[in-house]
Amino acid sequence: MKDSATDTLTAEKMGGLRMTKQRQVVYEVVQEMAMDHPTASEVYAKAKDLMPTISLATVYNCLETLTDAHAITQVNIDREASRFCPNLQPHAHFFCAKCDSVFDVNLHQQANAAEPWNLPQGSLIDEVNVAMRGVCPNCRED
Ligand SMILES: [Zn+2]
Ligand SMILES: [Zn+2]
Repeated sequence: MKDSATDTLTAEKMGGLRMTKQRQVVYEVVQEMAMDHPTASEVYAKAKDLMPTISLATVYNCLETLTDAHAITQVNIDREASRFCPNLQPHAHFFCAKCDSVFDVNLHQQANAAEPWNLPQGSLIDEVNVAMRGVCPNCRED
């Protein structure tokens, strides 16, 4: 299920970022691989199919620029290569320790991202970055 509004990039959404052809390709690949939360090298492998001349350094650059422009977010799992996620809704990442998959965990409908936390009163959240680690339903053996 995809929200069509998130598919089209507008200049305002990208914080005025100029979409070069390379950035567009890199962004499309991250969107396409959203479920996998690809690393830079995974993005590179796929981007090369669309644009054979693109280099790994360019892919790194584009990912950094897109992250800075808040078009995508960088997901860090300690000691592993950063992964990238185009889902801009507040969500957590669940890491499966067995199959190494990463998936998005959304809030319950209408839930407030600030609610589960004992935040000091008056705090405002700009960004929620929650990582959960465990075993996914596919890997669980009871
Ligand atoms: Zn995500
Ligand atoms: Zn798993």
